[in-house]
Amino acid sequence: MDLSFGPEYEAFRDELRAFLERHRERAPGGGQMLAGGTRDPAALSWQALLIEHGYAARTIPKQYGGYGATPDPLIRVILDEEFARAGVSAGLGGQGPDMLVPTLLEHGSEEQKLRWIPPTIRGEVVWCQGYSEPNAGSDLANVQTRATEDGSDFVINGQKIWTTTAHAADMMFGLIRTEPGASKHAGLSYVLIPMDAPGIEVRPLVTMTGHAEFNEVFFTDVRVPQSAVVGRRGEGWKIANTTLGHERSSLAATGQLEAAMARLTERMQAETVDGRRAVDDPALRDRLLRLQARLLAMKYHALRLLTCRLRGEPTGEPGSPEGSAVLVTKLAGCELSHQIAALGIDAMGEFGVLYGGSKHERAGGLWQFHYMFSLGLIIGGGTAQIQKNIIAERGLRLPREPRA
Ligand SMILES: Cc1cc2nc3c(=O)[nH]c(=O)nc-3n(C[C@H](O)[C@H](O)[C@H](O)COP(=O)(O)OP(=O)(O)OC[C@H]3O[C@@H](n4cnc5c(N)ncnc54)[C@H](O)[C@@H]3O)c2cc1C
Repeated sequence: MDLSFGPEYEAFRDELRAFLERHRERAPGGGQMLAGGTRDPAALSWQALLIEHGYAARTIPKQYGGYGATPDPLIRVILDEEFARAGVSAGLGGQGPDMLVPTLLEHGSEEQKLRWIPPTIRGEVVWCQGYSEPNAGSDLANVQTRATEDGSDFVINGQKIWTTTAHAADMMFGLIRTEPGASKHAGLSYVLIPMDAPGIEVRPLVTMTGHAEFNEVFFTDVRVPQSAVVGRRGEGWKIANTTLGHERSSLAATGQLEAAMARLTERMQAETVDGRRAVDDPALRDRLLRLQARLLAMKYHALRLLTCRLRGEPTGEPGSPEGSAVLVTKLAGCELSHQIAALGIDAMGEFGVLYGGSKHERAGGLWQFHYMFSLGLIIGGGTAQIQKNIIAERGLRLPREPRA
Protein backbone atom coordinates (compact mmCIF):
# COMPACT_ATOMS: atom_id res chain seq x y z
CA MET A 1 0.00 0.00 0.00
CA ASP A 2 1.44 3.39 -0.98
CA LEU A 3 0.74 5.77 1.87
CA SER A 4 2.67 8.75 0.52
CA PHE A 5 0.53 11.80 -0.23
CA GLY A 6 2.06 12.68 -3.63
CA PRO A 7 5.00 14.89 -4.74
CA GLU A 8 3.48 18.27 -3.87
CA TYR A 9 2.75 17.16 -0.30
CA GLU A 10 6.03 15.35 0.15
CA ALA A 11 7.79 18.60 -0.88
CA PHE A 12 5.85 20.38 1.90
CA ARG A 13 6.93 17.62 4.30
CA ASP A 14 10.62 18.05 3.31
CA GLU A 15 10.38 21.81 3.75
CA LEU A 16 8.82 21.36 7.21
CA ARG A 17 11.48 18.84 8.24
CA ALA A 18 14.22 21.28 7.20
CA PHE A 19 12.52 24.07 9.19
CA LEU A 20 12.27 21.88 12.29
CA GLU A 21 15.90 20.84 12.00
CA ARG A 22 17.01 24.48 11.61
CA HIS A 23 14.94 25.94 14.45
CA ARG A 24 14.44 23.09 16.93
CA GLU A 25 16.73 24.76 19.51
CA ARG A 26 14.29 27.68 19.72
CA ALA A 27 11.30 25.43 20.55
CA PRO A 28 10.46 25.38 24.26
CA GLY A 29 8.72 22.73 26.33
CA GLY A 30 9.82 19.42 24.77
CA GLY A 31 7.52 17.75 22.26
CA GLN A 32 4.20 18.67 23.89
CA MET A 33 1.76 21.35 22.75
CA LEU A 34 2.48 24.44 24.83
CA ALA A 35 0.06 24.71 27.72
CA GLY A 36 -2.82 27.09 27.03
CA GLY A 37 -2.02 29.39 29.95
CA THR A 38 1.67 29.91 29.30
CA ARG A 39 3.10 33.46 29.33
CA ASP A 40 6.66 32.26 28.75
CA PRO A 41 8.24 34.72 26.26
CA ALA A 42 10.14 31.86 24.57
CA ALA A 43 6.84 30.02 24.00
CA LEU A 44 5.14 33.12 22.57
CA SER A 45 8.09 33.84 20.28
CA TRP A 46 8.06 30.20 19.05
CA GLN A 47 4.33 30.55 18.34
CA ALA A 48 4.96 33.78 16.38
CA LEU A 49 7.63 32.03 14.28
CA LEU A 50 5.27 29.12 13.54
CA ILE A 51 2.47 31.48 12.48
CA GLU A 52 4.86 33.44 10.25
CA HIS A 53 5.77 30.22 8.38
CA GLY A 54 2.22 28.86 8.29
CA TYR A 55 2.87 25.99 10.69
CA ALA A 56 0.46 27.31 13.34
CA ALA A 57 -2.86 29.18 12.84
CA ARG A 58 -2.37 28.07 9.22
CA THR A 59 -5.96 28.33 8.06
CA ILE A 60 -6.94 31.35 10.17
CA PRO A 61 -7.64 34.22 7.73
CA LYS A 62 -4.94 36.91 7.53
CA GLN A 63 -7.26 39.66 8.75
CA TYR A 64 -7.50 37.78 12.06
CA GLY A 65 -3.74 37.39 12.38
CA GLY A 66 -3.38 33.91 10.88
CA TYR A 67 -1.43 32.62 7.88
CA GLY A 68 -4.47 32.56 5.60
CA ALA A 69 -3.98 29.20 3.84
CA THR A 70 -6.89 27.23 2.40
CA PRO A 71 -7.84 24.30 4.68
CA ASP A 72 -6.24 21.07 3.46
CA PRO A 73 -6.66 17.90 5.52
CA LEU A 74 -3.47 16.34 4.12
CA ILE A 75 -1.35 19.32 5.20
CA ARG A 76 -2.94 19.05 8.66
CA VAL A 77 -1.89 15.39 8.88
CA ILE A 78 1.67 16.17 7.74
CA LEU A 79 1.98 18.95 10.34
CA ASP A 80 0.81 16.61 13.14
CA GLU A 81 3.10 13.80 12.00
CA GLU A 82 6.25 15.86 11.55
CA PHE A 83 6.07 17.88 14.78
CA ALA A 84 5.43 14.65 16.72
CA ARG A 85 8.22 12.82 14.88
CA ALA A 86 10.71 15.62 15.58
CA GLY A 87 9.63 15.83 19.24
CA VAL A 88 9.18 19.59 18.80
CA SER A 89 6.24 21.62 20.16
CA ALA A 90 3.60 22.37 17.52
CA GLY A 91 2.79 25.66 19.24
CA LEU A 92 0.02 26.86 21.50
CA GLY A 93 -2.91 24.62 22.31
CA GLY A 94 -5.59 24.92 24.94
CA GLN A 95 -9.05 26.39 25.22
CA GLY A 96 -8.32 29.62 23.31
CA PRO A 97 -6.57 28.51 20.11
CA ASP A 98 -8.10 25.02 19.87
CA MET A 99 -11.67 25.65 20.99
CA LEU A 100 -12.72 29.31 21.09
CA VAL A 101 -11.04 30.43 17.85
CA PRO A 102 -12.80 27.90 15.56
CA THR A 103 -16.07 28.62 17.38
CA LEU A 104 -15.73 32.38 16.81
CA LEU A 105 -14.86 31.79 13.15
CA GLU A 106 -18.13 29.90 12.80
CA HIS A 107 -20.48 31.91 15.02
CA GLY A 108 -18.77 35.16 16.14
CA SER A 109 -19.59 38.67 14.92
CA GLU A 110 -16.96 40.43 12.79
CA GLU A 111 -16.15 42.67 15.75
CA GLN A 112 -15.64 39.65 18.06
CA LYS A 113 -13.40 37.93 15.51
CA LEU A 114 -11.22 41.02 15.01
CA ARG A 115 -11.00 41.71 18.71
CA TRP A 116 -10.32 38.22 20.06
CA ILE A 117 -8.76 35.93 17.45
CA PRO A 118 -5.42 37.76 16.82
CA PRO A 119 -4.33 38.03 20.49
CA THR A 120 -5.63 34.52 21.23
CA ILE A 121 -3.58 32.76 18.54
CA ARG A 122 -0.50 34.76 19.62
CA GLY A 123 -1.05 33.58 23.22
CA GLU A 124 -1.53 37.12 24.55
CA VAL A 125 -5.10 36.47 25.74
CA VAL A 126 -5.59 33.26 27.72
CA TRP A 127 -9.06 31.66 27.89
CA CYS A 128 -10.86 29.18 30.10
CA GLN A 129 -14.02 27.20 29.40
CA GLY A 130 -16.88 27.80 31.84
CA TYR A 131 -19.36 25.03 31.13
CA SER A 132 -19.46 22.49 34.01
CA GLU A 133 -21.24 23.17 37.29
CA PRO A 134 -21.77 21.01 40.39
CA ASN A 135 -25.04 19.70 38.87
CA ALA A 136 -24.26 20.15 35.20
CA GLY A 137 -21.49 17.91 33.85
CA SER A 138 -22.69 15.06 31.66
CA ASP A 139 -26.10 16.73 31.82
CA LEU A 140 -24.63 20.01 30.61
CA ALA A 141 -27.95 21.57 29.61
CA ASN A 142 -28.77 21.71 33.34
CA VAL A 143 -26.53 24.82 33.73
CA GLN A 144 -27.93 27.04 36.51
CA THR A 145 -25.53 30.01 36.47
CA ARG A 146 -27.85 32.73 35.30
CA ALA A 147 -27.71 36.23 33.89
CA THR A 148 -30.44 38.81 34.42
CA GLU A 149 -30.84 41.87 32.21
CA ASP A 150 -29.99 45.29 33.58
CA GLY A 151 -30.13 47.95 30.86
CA SER A 152 -27.64 46.95 28.19
CA ASP A 153 -25.79 44.66 30.62
CA PHE A 154 -26.19 41.15 31.97
CA VAL A 155 -25.65 40.55 35.69
CA ILE A 156 -24.33 37.01 36.32
CA ASN A 157 -24.67 34.92 39.48
CA GLY A 158 -23.75 31.26 40.05
CA GLN A 159 -20.86 28.83 40.07
CA LYS A 160 -18.70 26.90 37.61
CA ILE A 161 -16.45 23.97 38.52
CA TRP A 162 -13.51 22.01 37.01
CA THR A 163 -12.53 25.15 35.08
CA THR A 164 -9.08 24.39 33.66
CA THR A 165 -6.66 27.36 33.60
CA ALA A 166 -9.20 29.75 35.21
CA HIS A 167 -6.46 30.89 37.63
CA ALA A 168 -4.30 32.04 34.69
CA ALA A 169 -7.00 33.16 32.26
CA ASP A 170 -7.84 36.67 31.06
CA MET A 171 -11.22 35.60 29.70
CA MET A 172 -13.84 32.85 29.99
CA PHE A 173 -16.23 31.57 27.34
CA GLY A 174 -19.13 30.48 29.49
CA LEU A 175 -22.48 28.81 29.12
CA ILE A 176 -24.98 30.95 31.03
CA ARG A 177 -28.77 30.76 31.47
CA THR A 178 -30.09 34.03 30.06
CA GLU A 179 -33.68 33.18 29.07
CA PRO A 180 -35.87 32.52 32.11
CA GLY A 181 -38.92 30.45 31.21
CA ALA A 182 -37.35 28.96 28.06
CA SER A 183 -36.82 25.19 27.85
CA LYS A 184 -33.62 23.71 29.30
CA HIS A 185 -31.64 23.75 26.03
CA ALA A 186 -33.13 26.94 24.61
CA GLY A 187 -32.42 29.13 27.64
CA LEU A 188 -28.63 29.25 27.38
CA SER A 189 -26.25 31.79 25.85
CA TYR A 190 -22.53 31.61 25.06
CA VAL A 191 -20.97 34.59 26.84
CA LEU A 192 -17.41 36.04 26.80
CA ILE A 193 -16.54 37.12 30.36
CA PRO A 194 -13.42 39.03 31.55
CA MET A 195 -11.88 37.13 34.46
CA ASP A 196 -10.91 40.39 36.20
CA ALA A 197 -14.53 41.59 36.35
CA PRO A 198 -15.57 42.56 39.90
CA GLY A 199 -17.49 39.69 41.58
CA ILE A 200 -15.47 36.79 40.14
CA GLU A 201 -13.66 34.56 42.63
CA VAL A 202 -11.39 31.70 41.53
CA ARG A 203 -10.55 28.88 43.97
CA PRO A 204 -7.99 26.24 42.90
CA LEU A 205 -8.74 22.47 43.00
CA VAL A 206 -5.74 20.16 43.40
CA THR A 207 -5.91 16.97 41.32
CA MET A 208 -4.22 13.64 42.06
CA THR A 209 -1.18 14.80 40.04
CA GLY A 210 -0.52 17.13 43.00
CA HIS A 211 -1.03 20.23 40.83
CA ALA A 212 -3.97 22.65 40.75
CA GLU A 213 -4.87 22.48 37.05
CA PHE A 214 -8.51 23.38 37.44
CA ASN A 215 -10.67 25.55 39.67
CA GLU A 216 -14.04 26.53 41.05
CA VAL A 217 -15.24 29.91 39.77
CA PHE A 218 -17.89 31.88 41.67
CA PHE A 219 -19.91 34.76 40.18
CA THR A 220 -21.54 37.37 42.42
CA ASP A 221 -23.30 40.15 40.49
CA VAL A 222 -20.75 40.06 37.67
CA ARG A 223 -21.61 42.63 35.03
CA VAL A 224 -20.92 42.09 31.30
CA PRO A 225 -22.38 43.92 28.30
CA GLN A 226 -25.02 41.98 26.36
CA SER A 227 -22.78 42.41 23.29
CA ALA A 228 -20.52 39.79 24.91
CA VAL A 229 -22.91 37.04 23.72
CA VAL A 230 -21.59 35.00 20.77
CA GLY A 231 -24.30 34.29 18.21
CA ARG A 232 -27.84 35.01 19.31
CA ARG A 233 -29.24 34.89 22.84
CA GLY A 234 -30.63 31.44 23.58
CA GLU A 235 -28.37 29.82 20.96
CA GLY A 236 -25.71 28.86 23.50
CA TRP A 237 -26.38 25.12 23.40
CA LYS A 238 -25.66 24.91 19.66
CA ILE A 239 -22.54 27.07 19.95
CA ALA A 240 -21.22 25.22 23.02
CA ASN A 241 -21.49 21.99 21.05
CA THR A 242 -19.39 23.47 18.24
CA THR A 243 -16.69 24.15 20.84
CA LEU A 244 -17.05 20.64 22.32
CA GLY A 245 -16.54 19.11 18.86
CA HIS A 246 -13.24 21.00 18.53
CA GLU A 247 -12.26 20.03 22.10
CA ARG A 248 -12.85 16.34 21.45
CA SER A 249 -10.83 16.28 18.27
CA SER A 250 -7.95 18.21 19.90
CA LEU A 251 -7.68 15.81 22.85
CA ALA A 252 -6.08 12.83 21.14
CA ALA A 253 -4.06 13.49 18.00
CA THR A 254 -2.67 10.27 16.52
CA GLY A 255 0.76 11.88 15.98
CA GLN A 256 1.12 12.54 19.72
CA LEU A 257 0.12 8.94 20.49
CA GLU A 258 2.70 7.63 18.03
CA ALA A 259 5.37 9.74 19.71
CA ALA A 260 4.30 8.43 23.14
CA MET A 261 4.42 4.85 21.85
CA ALA A 262 7.94 5.38 20.48
CA ARG A 263 9.06 6.72 23.88
CA LEU A 264 7.41 3.74 25.59
CA THR A 265 9.23 1.25 23.34
CA GLU A 266 12.57 2.95 24.08
CA ARG A 267 11.86 2.86 27.82
CA MET A 268 10.99 -0.84 27.70
CA GLN A 269 14.29 -1.52 25.96
CA ALA A 270 16.20 0.45 28.60
CA GLU A 271 14.44 -0.71 31.80
CA THR A 272 15.07 -4.04 33.49
CA VAL A 273 12.53 -5.90 35.66
CA ASP A 274 13.89 -8.83 37.73
CA GLY A 275 17.12 -8.79 35.77
CA ARG A 276 15.75 -8.78 32.22
CA ARG A 277 14.76 -6.04 29.81
CA ALA A 278 11.11 -5.04 30.21
CA VAL A 279 10.60 -5.56 26.49
CA ASP A 280 11.67 -9.24 26.89
CA ASP A 281 9.10 -9.92 29.63
CA PRO A 282 6.31 -11.88 27.84
CA ALA A 283 3.43 -10.22 29.72
CA LEU A 284 4.74 -6.66 29.22
CA ARG A 285 5.68 -7.37 25.60
CA ASP A 286 2.18 -8.72 24.94
CA ARG A 287 0.67 -5.49 26.31
CA LEU A 288 3.03 -3.39 24.18
CA LEU A 289 2.02 -5.23 21.00
CA ARG A 290 -1.69 -4.97 21.81
CA LEU A 291 -1.31 -1.20 22.27
CA GLN A 292 0.64 -0.94 19.02
CA ALA A 293 -2.13 -2.83 17.22
CA ARG A 294 -4.75 -0.45 18.62
CA LEU A 295 -2.68 2.57 17.63
CA LEU A 296 -2.30 1.22 14.10
CA ALA A 297 -6.05 0.55 13.93
CA MET A 298 -6.68 4.15 15.00
CA LYS A 299 -4.19 5.48 12.50
CA TYR A 300 -5.61 3.54 9.55
CA HIS A 301 -9.16 4.35 10.57
CA ALA A 302 -8.18 8.03 10.57
CA LEU A 303 -6.55 7.61 7.13
CA ARG A 304 -9.71 5.90 5.83
CA LEU A 305 -11.86 8.80 7.06
CA LEU A 306 -9.36 11.22 5.52
CA THR A 307 -9.65 9.47 2.15
CA CYS A 308 -13.46 9.70 2.35
CA ARG A 309 -13.25 13.39 3.21
CA LEU A 310 -10.88 14.11 0.29
CA ARG A 311 -13.24 12.31 -2.09
CA GLY A 312 -16.22 14.18 -0.67
CA GLU A 313 -17.78 10.90 0.50
CA PRO A 314 -19.68 10.50 3.78
CA THR A 315 -17.40 9.58 6.67
CA GLY A 316 -20.04 8.22 8.99
CA GLU A 317 -19.77 4.43 8.91
CA PRO A 318 -21.16 2.69 10.86
CA GLY A 319 -23.55 5.60 11.45
CA SER A 320 -23.28 9.35 11.39
CA PRO A 321 -19.99 11.26 10.91
CA GLU A 322 -20.18 12.18 14.57
CA GLY A 323 -20.28 8.49 15.59
CA SER A 324 -17.00 7.60 13.89
CA ALA A 325 -15.11 10.81 14.51
CA VAL A 326 -15.85 10.80 18.23
CA LEU A 327 -14.93 7.13 18.45
CA VAL A 328 -11.51 7.71 16.93
CA THR A 329 -10.44 11.04 18.31
CA LYS A 330 -11.86 11.17 21.78
CA LEU A 331 -12.83 7.82 23.22
CA ALA A 332 -10.23 5.51 21.66
CA GLY A 333 -7.44 8.10 21.71
CA CYS A 334 -7.79 9.18 25.34
CA GLU A 335 -8.11 5.61 26.62
CA LEU A 336 -5.11 4.52 24.59
CA SER A 337 -3.06 7.43 25.90
CA HIS A 338 -3.88 6.38 29.48
CA GLN A 339 -2.95 2.73 28.83
CA ILE A 340 0.36 3.70 27.19
CA ALA A 341 1.24 5.58 30.38
CA ALA A 342 0.12 2.61 32.53
CA LEU A 343 2.52 0.31 30.69
CA GLY A 344 5.28 2.91 31.01
CA ILE A 345 4.85 2.71 34.79
CA ASP A 346 4.69 -1.10 34.93
CA ALA A 347 7.80 -1.36 32.76
CA MET A 348 9.74 0.36 35.58
CA GLY A 349 8.86 -2.39 38.08
CA GLU A 350 8.80 -1.17 41.68
CA PHE A 351 10.29 2.21 40.63
CA GLY A 352 7.06 2.89 38.77
CA VAL A 353 5.18 3.85 41.93
CA LEU A 354 7.63 6.61 42.89
CA TYR A 355 6.36 10.10 42.22
CA GLY A 356 6.87 13.60 43.52
CA GLY A 357 10.61 14.13 43.78
CA SER A 358 12.05 10.81 45.03
CA LYS A 359 15.73 10.53 44.11
CA HIS A 360 14.96 7.11 42.56
CA GLU A 361 12.18 8.50 40.38
CA ARG A 362 12.70 7.66 36.68
CA ALA A 363 12.29 10.05 33.74
CA GLY A 364 11.33 12.91 36.07
CA GLY A 365 8.03 11.19 36.99
CA LEU A 366 6.75 11.88 33.46
CA TRP A 367 4.99 8.52 33.04
CA GLN A 368 3.33 8.74 36.45
CA PHE A 369 2.19 12.30 35.76
CA HIS A 370 0.92 11.33 32.33
CA TYR A 371 -0.97 8.33 33.79
CA MET A 372 -2.88 10.52 36.26
CA PHE A 373 -3.33 13.47 33.91
CA SER A 374 -4.63 11.37 31.00
CA LEU A 375 -7.25 9.80 33.26
CA GLY A 376 -8.73 13.31 33.46
CA LEU A 377 -8.83 13.57 29.67
CA ILE A 378 -11.09 10.48 29.54
CA ILE A 379 -13.54 12.47 31.70
CA GLY A 380 -13.05 16.05 30.42
CA GLY A 381 -14.90 17.11 27.26
CA GLY A 382 -17.56 14.44 27.96
CA THR A 383 -16.85 11.16 29.77
CA ALA A 384 -16.12 7.83 28.05
CA GLN A 385 -19.60 6.60 29.03
CA ILE A 386 -21.22 9.64 27.42
CA GLN A 387 -19.12 9.17 24.25
CA LYS A 388 -20.29 5.53 24.14
CA ASN A 389 -23.91 6.68 24.49
CA ILE A 390 -23.45 9.10 21.57
CA ILE A 391 -21.82 6.46 19.40
CA ALA A 392 -24.50 3.89 20.28
CA GLU A 393 -27.48 6.19 19.79
CA ARG A 394 -26.41 8.46 16.94
CA GLY A 395 -23.70 6.36 15.26
CA LEU A 396 -25.06 2.82 15.56
CA ARG A 397 -28.69 3.94 15.86
CA LEU A 398 -29.33 1.72 18.89
CA PRO A 399 -32.43 2.45 21.01
CA ARG A 400 -32.08 5.62 23.07
CA GLU A 401 -31.37 5.41 26.77
CA PRO A 402 -34.58 6.00 28.81
CA ARG A 403 -34.70 9.68 29.83
CA ALA A 404 -35.21 10.47 33.52
C1 LIG B 1 -9.10 17.12 33.66
C2 LIG B 1 -10.44 17.76 33.50
C3 LIG B 1 -10.54 19.03 32.97
C4 LIG B 1 -11.78 19.64 32.85
N1 LIG B 1 -11.83 20.92 32.36
C5 LIG B 1 -13.02 21.53 32.27
C6 LIG B 1 -13.09 22.89 31.81
O1 LIG B 1 -12.07 23.51 31.51
N2 LIG B 1 -14.29 23.47 31.75
C7 LIG B 1 -15.45 22.82 32.07
O2 LIG B 1 -16.51 23.41 31.94
N3 LIG B 1 -15.42 21.54 32.51
C8 LIG B 1 -14.23 20.88 32.62
N4 LIG B 1 -14.17 19.60 33.08
C9 LIG B 1 -15.39 18.95 33.55
C10 LIG B 1 -15.89 17.82 32.66
O3 LIG B 1 -16.44 18.30 31.46
C11 LIG B 1 -16.89 17.02 33.49
O4 LIG B 1 -16.18 16.45 34.58
C12 LIG B 1 -17.55 15.93 32.70
O5 LIG B 1 -18.39 16.45 31.71
C13 LIG B 1 -18.36 14.98 33.62
O6 LIG B 1 -19.22 15.71 34.43
P1 LIG B 1 -19.25 15.48 36.01
O7 LIG B 1 -17.86 15.58 36.52
O8 LIG B 1 -20.28 16.40 36.57
O9 LIG B 1 -19.70 13.97 36.20
P2 LIG B 1 -21.19 13.40 36.15
O10 LIG B 1 -21.89 13.97 34.98
O11 LIG B 1 -21.80 13.59 37.49
O12 LIG B 1 -20.91 11.87 35.88
C14 LIG B 1 -20.48 10.99 36.92
C15 LIG B 1 -20.33 9.59 36.31
O13 LIG B 1 -21.61 9.13 35.82
C16 LIG B 1 -21.50 8.77 34.45
N5 LIG B 1 -22.73 9.16 33.74
C17 LIG B 1 -23.40 10.33 33.82
N6 LIG B 1 -24.48 10.31 33.01
C18 LIG B 1 -24.48 9.12 32.37
C19 LIG B 1 -25.32 8.51 31.39
N7 LIG B 1 -26.38 9.15 30.89
N8 LIG B 1 -25.00 7.26 30.95
C20 LIG B 1 -23.91 6.60 31.45
N9 LIG B 1 -23.09 7.13 32.40
C21 LIG B 1 -23.36 8.37 32.84
C22 LIG B 1 -20.33 9.57 33.91
O14 LIG B 1 -19.74 8.94 32.76
C23 LIG B 1 -19.39 9.57 35.11
O15 LIG B 1 -18.64 8.37 35.14
C24 LIG B 1 -12.95 18.96 33.23
C25 LIG B 1 -12.86 17.67 33.77
C26 LIG B 1 -11.62 17.08 33.90
C27 LIG B 1 -11.55 15.70 34.50
